[in-house]
Amino acid sequence: MPRLSEVIAELDALWPPDRAEQWDAVGTVCGDPDARVGRVLFAVDPVQEIVDEAVSLGADLIVAHHPLYLRGTTTVAAGHFKGRVVHDLIKNDIALHVAHTNADTADPGVSDALAGALDLRVTGPLVPENGLGRICELDHPETLAEFAARAAARLPATAQGIRVAGDPGMTVRRVAVSGGSGDSLFDAVRAAGVDAFLTSDLRHHPVSEATQRTPLGLVDAAHWATEWPWCEQAAAQLDAISDRHGWDLRVHVSKTVTDPWSSHHTSPGAPN
Ligand SMILES: [Zn+2]
Repeated sequence: MPRLSEVIAELDALWPPDRAEQWDAVGTVCGDPDARVGRVLFAVDPVQEIVDEAVSLGADLIVAHHPLYLRGTTTVAAGHFKGRVVHDLIKNDIALHVAHTNADTADPGVSDALAGALDLRVTGPLVPENGLGRICELDHPETLAEFAARAAARLPATAQGIRVAGDPGMTVRRVAVSGGSGDSLFDAVRAAGVDAFLTSDLRHHPVSEATQRTPLGLVDAAHWATEWPWCEQAAAQLDAISDRHGWDLRVHVSKTVTDPWSSHHTSPGAPN
């Protein structure tokens, strides 16, 4: 079995830490570099449910997309929910490693996995300067409603489901996709001249302005759902590395839905 330090070196080659944004907090949160790793669990969020899953699975390493402490901390006391995560990880000899914006900008990265989940053909990055997002082509033109239905069918189910802005009957040939929050990418989406944009966390004003300006279709999935396909992509990458080294790692992808939204209700009628 490889040591944790050997596994991390391979993960750092996939998602170089120096490609993370300045404000980000990527890398190993806890774990002994000399500990042996036999079982790895990939997940989007390093939350208690994922730690519990890793414990029952007998995992030695969790690889998460989101940081545990994005803004640093002065305490890991177990009375705090994040401190509890750290305590449970250390007590159970489980390491935690984070690949966040360095996984977004990698090739393949988070948005390649999102495009792959929908069977879209990637033609290049949405933001060439940093590699964020992807421009994709559809094999056959479809309506915005059909494209949204494809997203609903291919992404894991969440309470939010898929929200659509724009004319459901408009024709979609080229799309931009970006896993995670896509609010900041509207300028790049407009510059790319695509028909639709699949992402998450879109807000009222940017959506209102974007759809008033041009006939752009917007497809908004749950943040977690747009990033979950990366876990499967990353697990396959680590599996291939394990085969190459003869490590015999057991690599798992968590199917626990850690999207924080838990239910969805539609009001029965318009205001009167
Ligand atoms: Zn995210």
